[in-house]
Amino acid sequence: RSRTSADLIRAEEPVLAHNYHPLPVVVARAEGAWVEDVEGRRYLDMLAGYSALNFGHRHPALVEAAHRQLDRLTLTSRAFHNDRLAEFAERLAQLTGQDMVLPMNTGAEAVESGIKVARKWAYDVKGVPADRATIVVAADNFHGRTTTIVSFSTDETARSGFGPFTPGFRVVPYDDLAALEEAVDETTAAVLIEPIQGEAGVIVPRDGYLAGVRELTRRRNCLFVADEIQSGLGRTGRTLAVDHEDVEPDVVLLGKALGGGIVPVSAVVGRREVLGVLNPGEHGSTFGGNPLAAAVGTAVVELLETGEFQHRADTLGAVLRDGLTRLVGRGVVGFRSRGLWAGVDVDPAIGSGREISERLMREGVLAKDTHGSTIRLAPPLTVTEDELLGALASFEKVLAV
Ligand code: PLP
Repeated sequence: RSRTSADLIRAEEPVLAHNYHPLPVVVARAEGAWVEDVEGRRYLDMLAGYSALNFGHRHPALVEAAHRQLDRLTLTSRAFHNDRLAEFAERLAQLTGQDMVLPMNTGAEAVESGIKVARKWAYDVKGVPADRATIVVAADNFHGRTTTIVSFSTDETARSGFGPFTPGFRVVPYDDLAALEEAVDETTAAVLIEPIQGEAGVIVPRDGYLAGVRELTRRRNCLFVADEIQSGLGRTGRTLAVDHEDVEPDVVLLGKALGGGIVPVSAVVGRREVLGVLNPGEHGSTFGGNPLAAAVGTAVVELLETGEFQHRADTLGAVLRDGLTRLVGRGVVGFRSRGLWAGVDVDPAIGSGREISERLMREGVLAKDTHGSTIRLAPPLTVTEDELLGALASFEKVLAV
């Protein structure tokens, strides 16, 4: 007898580290915006792998690119060249308006790499004295889980018990240019921020903040590093979230959707004056830039080159915004959204974010809470208007209980 969802959930308990608290659903198959559990129940995926599945599950063009590459060449390491990497880097740089690409695997690795590159730039180009470089970050940031990254987290759950921490970071309030102005000094290598803070609850800064960060960092001779790992690659209705303010950071960090939901692919993309500071032996990754990742990543870039997904996120984002606006005062206290990405604050009297997510699950909609009573909604950009309206109807229903 094959194991049921309940069996499988029980089986994980003694053998898997308890660093997650998943919703009690065991996914066995998926296609497009839909997943199916072990018992064959179907759910609309309104989380999309924290935006790693912007193109839906198993997008045919991405699966085909992966299959083709699997049959030819999967890994060389960077000890040798491979015949897929040049095109991936060329097209990704072109898509993002940057010059150079440093391919890595996970988001946290891209952030770590961005930090190293910014520090190297500070010493080699700006002339900061050795080991004195600082990086200014925002409160309530989420950039990943490594020891250096949690060193500048303001979330006690993420930090507590993991010290000692990496020095060299200054934390200022998000969306506050005056605080940034004060924190930046001659030791500052970079300002590292999320153009929209995802894990914090989809916090969209005021219009002008990103342009302000750009102006400030240019004037004060430090780098603007934008973590677009969750906000980038179509999610907000533009290729990058910084595009909403026509801002060009010095360095953009990408991940999640760059691997098409198939393989982990991340990248640091940036200006030649910045990424050019790295010399052979100073940084690397066994899997970074592997041909399978490059093939899938190139297919992802190809999907984004058409603008179709950015357009879908934009137009369907308006549907999402309208639907949520109608729920304000009816279980929803407030929400923030951009494109197909929303953080919805539910009236705590109705239930915790976790409880709401569980009720949605029973209605056939998968979403995930973040911090207290906030639900984040981020369906694949392939979702149809009807599917989106269906999810909103389910949301209305669980709020009315
Ligand atoms: N940066 C941002 C903005 C993120 O949202 C995340 C993941 O949620 C990361 C970095 C870390 O990515 P990964 O989980 O692939 O290490």
